[in-house]
Amino acid sequence: MTRTAGVDIGGTKIAAGLVDDGEVVRVLRRPTPAGGAAAVLDRVATMLGELAEPFAAIGVGSPGIVRDGTVVSATDVVPGWAGARVRERLSAQFGVPVAVDNDVRAMAFGESRHGAGSRDGLVLYVSVGTGLGGALTRRGALVHGAHGSAGEVAHLLTPVRGAVPCGCGRLDHLEAIAAGPAIAAAYSTRAGGEPVSLPEVATRMRSGDSAATAVVTETGRLLGRVLAGFVTAIDADAVVLGGGAGLGLGEPFVRAVAEALRSEVRPSGRPVEVRPALLGTEAPIVGAALLALEQGAR
Ligand SMILES: [Zn+2]
Repeated sequence: MTRTAGVDIGGTKIAAGLVDDGEVVRVLRRPTPAGGAAAVLDRVATMLGELAEPFAAIGVGSPGIVRDGTVVSATDVVPGWAGARVRERLSAQFGVPVAVDNDVRAMAFGESRHGAGSRDGLVLYVSVGTGLGGALTRRGALVHGAHGSAGEVAHLLTPVRGAVPCGCGRLDHLEAIAAGPAIAAAYSTRAGGEPVSLPEVATRMRSGDSAATAVVTETGRLLGRVLAGFVTAIDADAVVLGGGAGLGLGEPFVRAVAEALRSEVRPSGRPVEVRPALLGTEAPIVGAALLALEQGAR
């Protein structure tokens, strides 16, 4: 049996799927319950049972920083999530190996095995979503760094607008300027009128709204410029752009990031490919399942 269960825990939704050779063959989605870690883990366990098929291992992509199967720190995207003993709870119930890692790291791992990063050596994966996240892979393996934060680009200093608060409590970090909510807010400021969601900004851009096009390309260029310094410092082969916002904004956003990155990276003319992630919205499920397979159940 080679099927593995992959779980993606988010602030509003939980997805659980069966993954076979990097393909999702069945997936369930449910709202994330209120009531803290115990309620969330109960729902995950119920959903895994509802998959109604045996699996050899469970992989979980989780918000926050994860060590040894436990969430050691997390923001309030899932209230009460810090301290959740994910591996202990699920392995006790299902009796199979359980791998747990940060969701962006799971996505990066999935792309490095079955997606856009699989052809390269050192790859920086950047997820542009409700937040901004990053992870590094080298030839199909996650690079951890000394404290598990290698590739985390969210808090690179980007002091171009001045005193923009970041979710981490500091000022002028990349996430405060280039994540989905920041792009939507920049559009609302420029266009005036009612605040609109990021998908609406993307829709307006496609129908020729010049303010939407300007905000998306300017943010993409800024992201590319900041990432260029990081890419130069670590000497990466390629950058893979994923996340709901990054993929939803499509080709104009990816092109703006790529052009700015290539013009700033040193030495100039060095080939650094920037390409969109391939695994789409199911990337965390696939990545988590592949991590589980890697870490125990073959
Ligand atoms: Zn920050």
